Amino acid sequence: MTTNYRHEIVGVFGDPVDENPTILMFEAAFKAKGLRWRYQNFHVRAEDLGAAMAGLRAMRFRGINLTIPHKIEGLRYLDRITPEAALIGAVNTVVRDGDALIGTNTDGKGFLMALKLNANLDPAGKRVVVLGAGGAARAIAVELALAGARHITIVNRTTQRGEALAQLINDKTPTRAEFAWWLGDYTLPEDADIIVNATNIGLYPHMNDKPGVNMDSIKPGMLVCDVVPNPPRTRFLIEATAKGAKTLDGLGMLVYQGAIAFTIWTGQDAPVEVMRQALSESVA
Ligand code: NDP
Repeated sequence: MTTNYRHEIVGVFGDPVDENPTILMFEAAFKAKGLRWRYQNFHVRAEDLGAAMAGLRAMRFRGINLTIPHKIEGLRYLDRITPEAALIGAVNTVVRDGDALIGTNTDGKGFLMALKLNANLDPAGKRVVVLGAGGAARAIAVELALAGARHITIVNRTTQRGEALAQLINDKTPTRAEFAWWLGDYTLPEDADIIVNATNIGLYPHMNDKPGVNMDSIKPGMLVCDVVPNPPRTRFLIEATAKGAKTLDGLGMLVYQGAIAFTIWTGQDAPVEVMRQALSESVA
């Protein structure tokens, strides 16, 4: 009988990283699937990312998630990146294939899966408003455009970032995009189908904060989404529900972006409900 005590290692490089709950859903998933894999939170400072990526290769980790502040800088240490990650300009998941490190971005794909599977909505032909133009907004806007959204309005406080994202979509995808400067309460276009808060407004511990949106412009036919995973029921979503809109929380996106990474790393289907349960308990 052969003996093997070695675990396959994956995890996340970030700073800060101690309170990142992703470990809970991966450890639960590995256990549920009977896999001898481990997920760890690694505190990697910005100036140490190169050394950490070399270590990942040397110790033959199977892959790594990259979170703040490494999602853009991480591009420098990869052998290949997927076309979507190149468009987004950031990676959140790396897989080692032999000696090659391949980067992808599962954030926007996780949002799309939540949209389709939890809200039963296909973005093709839809008019979308994205609040924010940071990393999460870029990933979501690019994937919505690639999935055939008709028109995307990027609403952002900082003009430069918002304009750059709208231009990216206009230049690189068939979707039409425009930028709207975020000043005071933003009034949604009447024909908007999907509204996404892709800022960190409302994130724990600032649960009373809400993005500046004229709530009277929210209509029952709209789907209002939030990327904030903790708390899942943000004040924005609670008030949108009161206006009669359907809502989609950020927990689903977090679960699905992890489920996609699980499959990339292990080659197996992810136990999505086990992962959702593990994460839900952490934010309860
Ligand atoms: P970034 O720092 O890259 O971007 C933050 C964005 O929010 C910017 O557009 C910024 O505007 C805007 N913003 C922040 N505060 C305010 C404010 N007070 N008023 C107006 N705009 C504001 O962050 P990320 O994109 O990486 O993360 C954003 C959120 O997405 C976080 O809450 C994170 O937890 C969540 N997230 C969720 C995921 C999930 O799976 N559910 C995955 C990834 C992220 P400006 O450009 O003007 O600074």
